[in-house]
Amino acid sequence: MKIALIAHDKKKDAMIQLAIKYKDTLAEHELYATGTTGTLVMGETGLSIIRMKSGPLGGDQQIGSMVAEGKLDLIVFLRDPLTSQPHEPDVSALLRLCDVQSIPLATNVKSAEIMLKAVKNKEI
Ligand code: PGA
Repeated sequence: MKIALIAHDKKKDAMIQLAIKYKDTLAEHELYATGTTGTLVMGETGLSIIRMKSGPLGGDQQIGSMVAEGKLDLIVFLRDPLTSQPHEPDVSALLRLCDVQSIPLATNVKSAEIMLKAVKNKEI
């Protein structure tokens, strides 16, 4: 599967913990991430990740374009719902495209864990 990881700044620690917890599962798949998220997760886990631009510089749109082209199977996007983001339109566009294409999308840690457990158990 092709899996994308994105985390807003206040959720990056949570993303790192998630990636550490599911490292063995994630390692079996092709991973993509926005710039800073990818750098941090690679640094903390050693996972190999294809990095896009940083989110505010267009990374969310790059992930969105992959969704539109059917090139992603699953996205974990740990959003910060309490901080306004300069690239909010890009975030909304990505969420919309996931719904258009019916791509599984987890936007918080608990839903991400349900999805990654399903990946681990080869249920999706
Ligand atoms: P980042 O982008 O991983 O480059 O910080 C995430 C985002 O804010 O969309």
